[in-house]
Amino acid sequence: LSAMRADEANRSKSMFLAKMSHEIRTPMNAVIGMSELILRENVPSSVRENAEHVRHAGTNLLSIINDILDFSKIESGRMEIVPREYWLHSLLNDVINIIRMRLSEKDVQFVTNIDGTLPCKLEGDGTRVRQVLLNILSNAVKYTFEGCVTFSARGEKRGDGGILMTFEVEDTGIGIKEENLGRLFGDFIRFDHDTDKNIEGTGLGLAITKRLCLAMGGDVSASSVFGEGSVFTAAIPQKIKDGRTLGEIGERIYDVDETRDARISFTAPTACILVVDDIETNLKVVEGLLAPYEMKVRACGSGVEAIRMAQESIYDVIFMDHMMPEMNGIETTAAIRAIEGEYFKTVPIIALTANAVSGMREIFLQSGFNDFLSKPIEISKLNEIIERWIPKEKRANAARNSKPVPAAETALEIEGLDTSRGLASTGGTMEGYVRVLETYCRDAAKRLEILSGAPDGTCAASIITQVHALKSASASIGADEISHMAAELEKAGKNGDADFISAELALFRESLSGLIGRIRPALAEYIRNARNGAYSGDSGSGYQETLSRLRNALLAEDIGEADTLLEELEAMPIDSKTKDLLSAAADLTLTSEFTGAAGMIERLIKGGRSYERQAAVNVSRNDVHDS
Ligand code: ADP
Repeated sequence: LSAMRADEANRSKSMFLAKMSHEIRTPMNAVIGMSELILRENVPSSVRENAEHVRHAGTNLLSIINDILDFSKIESGRMEIVPREYWLHSLLNDVINIIRMRLSEKDVQFVTNIDGTLPCKLEGDGTRVRQVLLNILSNAVKYTFEGCVTFSARGEKRGDGGILMTFEVEDTGIGIKEENLGRLFGDFIRFDHDTDKNIEGTGLGLAITKRLCLAMGGDVSASSVFGEGSVFTAAIPQKIKDGRTLGEIGERIYDVDETRDARISFTAPTACILVVDDIETNLKVVEGLLAPYEMKVRACGSGVEAIRMAQESIYDVIFMDHMMPEMNGIETTAAIRAIEGEYFKTVPIIALTANAVSGMREIFLQSGFNDFLSKPIEISKLNEIIERWIPKEKRANAARNSKPVPAAETALEIEGLDTSRGLASTGGTMEGYVRVLETYCRDAAKRLEILSGAPDGTCAASIITQVHALKSASASIGADEISHMAAELEKAGKNGDADFISAELALFRESLSGLIGRIRPALAEYIRNARNGAYSGDSGSGYQETLSRLRNALLAEDIGEADTLLEELEAMPIDSKTKDLLSAAADLTLTSEFTGAAGMIERLIKGGRSYERQAAVNVSRNDVHDS
């Protein structure tokens, strides 16, 4: 009986903790949000410093609370493992990006070692797997001050369609004493750190990690040499949902979330850029990626045009595609360099290439290029190039723009298209992505026509040119499968494998035309909704209904619900004015001015479009703060 009572007492303690942590989270979000708001303003540096402290402490407190919440959920048996399908590369990308960001402030290298033969799609509780990985990787980051952190992922297939995933995190950090290793996964365990007393933590991370792994039918273990480093290994069984390998589907571990973290440190409104690429979709992609810099971007589609344009105006940087029909990038660059005059010898020319094999860099540098960038373009790499080559005197302060690009959620769902990746790799804004998709449809339809006219069963050069173009354009919009098929055809064409082409080309044409056929109506629908300033979702009333719920939540002062709804709304394809209004309402919510915020939402509900125009005048962020 007493055991039962103890059990019950324990459970109610955990319930209490869970509830309390939940209650603390909401005001904590306001604390962090408010300090964010202060940091967005132009405030004296002392205020900024204080606000930064508040934000830092707030974030820490929040992560402690999150730990306690998780822990008590597990303790009270309310932590459920919910298996769902997920793409392995997305999960790994997320984790790797977060850790890379954290490590960027330290003098520690991050090495990843992902087995390319791992299946691309798994079933399991991806969220929890992610949490486990983030926990052990974050520890490695916290307790390592020099050397490197290595993250490996491999798997061992099992007979029943399952796979035992093994993740290993090795660091060259402070290590753990042998006598402590046994207690490592206990609750609230923290060891004395002489090296750095200021490392924050609750001592719950590993306890949670252990419980999560066990709950998923796996386990986690550690080995370490004190003073040299540690290795944490988590083994978690998952089911295989799609046996194609990461390598096979052309998936490189690729920074999906990059746009969100890409900060630009300056704008250059007077700088002039020329982009040369024969594939229109690619031109649009580069233009989109360069947009935050506010530079003048001109584009052209062939080497011959590039040479002409280079003579007609002065450019600060020229981006030059490598593979172009007729005159390729290397020949074009040689021709520009050969023109009489200092400018032609020195204008920075950056090679763009989809064939990022090692050794290419040297070839480009020897061929008159100044630098090189591989496609699909990673934003951080592009930023590096811009920072390196745009002259200092043309740089303007980007105070307003130094925020991360907002993480626009993709509001498009199209079969065969990884829209969130497409969005990320085209610059992170829906406007930009839509423009690229429109161009893609036009461009791909033209190429499809050429392909349909191509003689069957040959390796004609015209086929190779078209599939090459479709390979890279499709990759940048997130159409991985089409891109992969195109790559295979291109390879076959180059190898003279006419059998493969005659066997596969028809299927490829069909898939491509299917994809275009799906993108077009989806785009049309999206644009219609965006124009109406209202998102109508499937039911036709999603947007309006969410607005009403938001107003009610605000009137009831239910911050949690209001936050969720605001987030939902922001993920919808709304126009930028509505977006501004929503964020102004969100600001008011943070300062607990619920009636004001509710009033704004009310006007949005009633006013629809006519309100937007008026609102743009009446309610800007600054007005809100002055009042
Ligand atoms: P904390 O929040 O304190 O990091 P954890 O449960 O995650 O809590 O870790 C418990 C303790 O284990 C830490 O306080 C630290 O002493 C030790 N530890 C965990 N990971 C490492 C590591 N990679 N290297 C050295 N010590 C570690």
